[in-house]
Parts: sequence; structure tokens; C-alpha cells
Amino acid sequence: MLYKVVALTAQRNAGLLIEQALKFKPALVVICDQSKYAEVKQGLAGSGVNVLAGESALEEAASLAEADMVITAIMGAVGLRPTIAAIKAGKDIGLANKETLVVAGQLITQLAKEHGVKIIPVDSEHSAIYQCLVGEEQNSIEKIYLTASGGPFRGRNLKYLSAVTKEAALKHPNWVMGAKITIDSASMMNKGLEVIEAKWLFDLREDQIDVIIHPQSIIHSLVQFTDGSMKAQLGLPDMKLPIHYAMAYPQRVQSNFPRFNFMDYPELTFQQPDRVAFRNLDLAYRAMNIGGNMPCIINAANEIVVKAFLEDRIGFLEMSDVIERCMQDLQFIESPTLNNYLETDQHTRIFAGQLVTK
Ligand code: MG
Repeated sequence: MLYKVVALTAQRNAGLLIEQALKFKPALVVICDQSKYAEVKQGLAGSGVNVLAGESALEEAASLAEADMVITAIMGAVGLRPTIAAIKAGKDIGLANKETLVVAGQLITQLAKEHGVKIIPVDSEHSAIYQCLVGEEQNSIEKIYLTASGGPFRGRNLKYLSAVTKEAALKHPNWVMGAKITIDSASMMNKGLEVIEAKWLFDLREDQIDVIIHPQSIIHSLVQFTDGSMKAQLGLPDMKLPIHYAMAYPQRVQSNFPRFNFMDYPELTFQQPDRVAFRNLDLAYRAMNIGGNMPCIINAANEIVVKAFLEDRIGFLEMSDVIERCMQDLQFIESPTLNNYLETDQHTRIFAGQLVTK
């Protein structure tokens, strides 16, 4: 057996957690939503699986002695504390939670360095860059290109975007993902957050990170080296591959995933992103340049506006307006501590929450 699952966690999907726990027999499962504890406990009665509930138990799961690696796939800033716990316990991180690096990239990358821990990206674009950099440790990157599908509203103008519905926004052309990241893809905030994620993962300056629209999502991202040569990683758009790579790294393990057929994609095309219609990309670049707790502010504000958009409380374009207001009005901290980040996250959620319930 290549892998053994020692812990599983879930927010509130008790049914799936029970099903997976019965299949993989981990030592521990954590259900974050305390109200689901009894259901999980009962579902796993007699199985020998220890059941805990609540957010603080995530840190316990993330630092179990038997684990070599922790895949952090929690959505949002909640992933910060368990990721820190895992790093401090010396676990390599398979990072599927980009928000962790967006919110506290400096702190997390510094901590990982101190503990000799690898952060292996699961995000498909960053996995592509990571794969392109294997064997290039001594060579400098000139720049990277993060590819973006453009989402369901690629090519649309402001007038069109002002009236789009959540149903339309949730129909991503290439990738099957959760609701939050699908909305982020439609609004280009996902790419903005990925720019910040790339800065920290690969230690890059702003002018070394570019975004290019690539509607087919076959080239997952590219690196350009100082001799002008470019390396790209390609494959079918399926998250199984980057997950598989992160878990197997530095090896490649045989898989039966569907193979790419050139004749299905006779043309791979590219476009510049539209930064007027998709303002979130610029807001993210701006937050990255300002630094400090500003990326934390846009991340928290974005989580609130996406939720509000999914609940039909604000329009598509208003999401950027609220994020920009938060950037202007919330207190800027140049060198935040962990507590500063957590406070900024809380304050931003409250402030953005007021703006979306007006
Ligand atoms: Mg991605």
C-alpha cells in the first residue's frame, strides 16, 4: 500500500466523512461542526475510529505523530491554524488551501523554512510551475505565466456582468470544483489569489508573475527562464492529477487517469485578461504590492462577498466594490503577527458583512 490515511476531517458533511472513515480506517476523524458530532460518533460506533469535533481539533489531526504529510484542503482562512500546527509538527504540506498563503504567506513560508518542511502545491497552476522547476534549482526564473480559463464570463463586458446570476456563474466550462472557487473563477479573484500564492511559493516579485487567458485549460502554467526558454506543464483539466503528484512527490506514480488526445484539442489559444471588466485581478495585484495584512483583507472580504452573491444579496460587480471599500477603510498593518492576521480576518468579515446587508 502506497498511502495510509491516519486522519480525515470535514466541515459538516457527516455522511461522507463516515463513509470515508469506514473505508480508510483512520485513527482519528474531526467534524468541525459540533452539531454533527453525535451523528458521526454514532456512525462510527464500534469501528475503532476516534471522533473529535470543533475547529481546534483540526490542529490535533494536522499534527498526529503517524502522519508524514498533511493535505490542507479546507476552504478559506480557517485553514491557517491547522496548517501552522502541521508545519510545527514537521509535516510536509500538500497545499490545496491557497487562502493560507494569501492571508499569511510570509509567516507560513518562513515557518516552513525553519522546520525544514516542504510546501507542495495542489493548485493546478502552481503544481504546473512546481513540476517545471524540478531539476532547475540552480537556475533563475525570469517570470512565470499563470494560465486562466477565463471562466464562464470570458469576453463579457461590464454591462453583461452587472446582470449575471449565480446559476450562470456556477457553470465553469472546464473544471469541476466547489461553489466558492467556481465563483472566484468567474470573477477572476481566483487568479488574483493565485498570483499572491505564487509570489510566496516561488519567491517572486510582482513583475515576475503574469496571467494569460487560455480557454482550453490544457497548459496549466509556464515558467520562463533567464535564457528565454519556457517550460510548460500540460494535461487534461482534472484535479486528480495535481493531487496525485503532490502526494507522490518527488516520484511519479502510475495512474489510470484519462490521457490527452491532441486531436480533441487541435488549437490551444491565448488572450490577455480584461482587467476593466474583471477588476478583482487588479485588486489582488494591488493588495500584493501593498503587502502587510492587505492580502488578508481582500481574502476575507472576498469570502464574505462570494457568500452574499451565492445568497442573492449582492450583484456580481458589487463584489469588487465591497472588496475595494474594505481595502480602503480597514486598518493597514505593515508587519502583521499571527494575531494581527486573525484580527484583520475577523474585522474584515464584520465590516464587509455590514456592507453586504445594507
Ligand atoms: Mg488553480
